[in-house]
Amino acid sequence: MSQVYLTGAGPGDIDLLTLKAYRVIGQADVIIYDRLANPKILEIAKNGCKFVYVGKENAKHTLPQDEINKIIYENACQHNIVVRLKGGDPFVFGRGGEEGIYLHEHGINYEIIPGITSAISVPAYAGIPVTHRGIAVSFRVVTGHESPKKKISQIPWDSFKADETLIFLMGLHNLTKITSKLIGIGKPKEYPCAVISKGTTKEQKVVVGTLDDIVQKAKELPSPALIVVGEVVKLRNQLKWFET
Ligand code: SAH
Repeated sequence: MSQVYLTGAGPGDIDLLTLKAYRVIGQADVIIYDRLANPKILEIAKNGCKFVYVGKENAKHTLPQDEINKIIYENACQHNIVVRLKGGDPFVFGRGGEEGIYLHEHGINYEIIPGITSAISVPAYAGIPVTHRGIAVSFRVVTGHESPKKKISQIPWDSFKADETLIFLMGLHNLTKITSKLIGIGKPKEYPCAVISKGTTKEQKVVVGTLDDIVQKAKELPSPALIVVGEVVKLRNQLKWFET
């Protein structure tokens, strides 16, 4: 009976892989992966392991999710140990839930191996804690990728509180919309904001600004990148450890 592992690969720094992920990657007969923050992870695989890339074919096209589900299923029918490797954590905007449901419906055994999500670790490598006593009592991880065609946003913009850190994933190309929405709900234009690109890797770049100027400042940054909004961004002045 085959076993599928829906596995988090962590945010980029290979040392942030969990021990369990490291172990199953080493045992895998096949690894199904998409655009990973760190492709060096694949070097952990044993000799003869098959690699299946299901990520972006070019700048625009991703393999549709139902095709990826089928590929995982077909490989599970042919191999013993199948690792489906995903950036960060498989259940944080990773569509791991859809893959798990598909496997369940098709009678395939699977396990979830959580990974260190970029949502928390990338700010940490930029010296930005997502909560801080007296400054931020909560944080929210929000999609920055909502389709502009959507007439009514599912994002509860009006409920974003003053002392809460907001972390937008997949939002770089929507940065203008996100900052103007936040100004629209009453956040001050000087409100602190950071964009972190390729976090936890050697190419990490951090740009700090305000809701008013971050679009201008961050426009050259490459993907993957996330956006942090909140007073905690200022703590980077004292907590910037990775670059120093
Ligand atoms: N499951 C992943 C997130 C998938 S959505 C996780 O838990 O991390 C992909 C988004 O994650 C990207 O658009 C970007 O916003 C963010 N991201 C992933 N890796 C990143 C990195 N190394 N640096 C900055 N942002 C990253």
